[in-house]
Amino acid sequence: MKKVILTGDRPTGNLHIGHYFGSLKQRVEMQYDYETYIIIADMQALTDNADNPEKVRKHVRELAIDYLSVGIDPKYSHIFIQSMIPELAILTVLFSNLVTVSRLFRNPTTKAEVSTKKEIFGNDGESITYGFLGYPVSQAADLTAFDCEVCPVGEDQVPHIEQTREIVRKFNHIYGETLKEPEAILSKTPRIKGLDGNEKMGKSLGNAIFLNDSDEVISKKIMGAVTDTNKIRKDDPANPEVCMVYYYHKLLKNDNLEVVCTECKTGKRGCVACKKELILKMQDFLKPIREKRAYYEAHLEEVDAILKEGTNVSRAKAEEVMNRVRNHMGLDYFESH
Ligand code: SF4
Repeated sequence: MKKVILTGDRPTGNLHIGHYFGSLKQRVEMQYDYETYIIIADMQALTDNADNPEKVRKHVRELAIDYLSVGIDPKYSHIFIQSMIPELAILTVLFSNLVTVSRLFRNPTTKAEVSTKKEIFGNDGESITYGFLGYPVSQAADLTAFDCEVCPVGEDQVPHIEQTREIVRKFNHIYGETLKEPEAILSKTPRIKGLDGNEKMGKSLGNAIFLNDSDEVISKKIMGAVTDTNKIRKDDPANPEVCMVYYYHKLLKNDNLEVVCTECKTGKRGCVACKKELILKMQDFLKPIREKRAYYEAHLEEVDAILKEGTNVSRAKAEEVMNRVRNHMGLDYFESH
């Protein structure tokens, strides 16, 4: 029996190379060894996009296309839409009785989001919604509904997994052994930095190279990437370790990396030439992904069929777990005991 893994994303924008190196690559590698469920978390996306459902709807299919383009294979991975599985909503309600409001407020990831998004949550968090605060409870439902045992996450998601584990322990303590406690495994690659040197490449931070960027866009973005600001003239020696262009040369495992480093340090390399070399590497790297994307964009009926099938398989699994939950909680009213 393969262990079950659950991963996914919120459909709020296209995926970028930060997602690729931070999680997608690992998902593709793991899908052959684990029973893989991939959630398109549209209900979670609505927690801070309730006034813009069209944005969420549009990106559901876009996200599925990104997945298929990088090599997520529907033969091995069940890609499903969260809102199409009502069991997740029922479990969220049942779990909400097992967690206190103060515990949810103490979640460090929630706190960090509230403090960085004051335009949404207000200066003192006065605009936090019940849905946003309950996000980790909904995530607990997503993880347990498929008997997930392993959850590959970034460091910022670890507190959410810990919250799930607490809920599971409490549930099992009260109602008897019912749910599996998932274990977080940290992504092998930490956060990917943005073109501007920001510690995080973000969908909405204007510092990302998206998987569907055209050659022209890639070229423009890399030409604007942050380099060593002390290097003024072409033959000035510089420090590659503070340069984002060098950072991406490393990320793409450029065979020429030692030469790039030495030439940069000794002033034998100009930044324009260095960026042009990276542009070609990045375009080559993204080419097969974009070609696959073009195929799926021309065959949307295939994408929809994959999503339907993935959702049907996932729903059947969630029903099985829900039946167990009902049974152990005594909510299976018309079943004969
Ligand atoms: Fe960065 Fe290359 Fe310029 Fe060195 S030569 S600072 S590695 S862009």
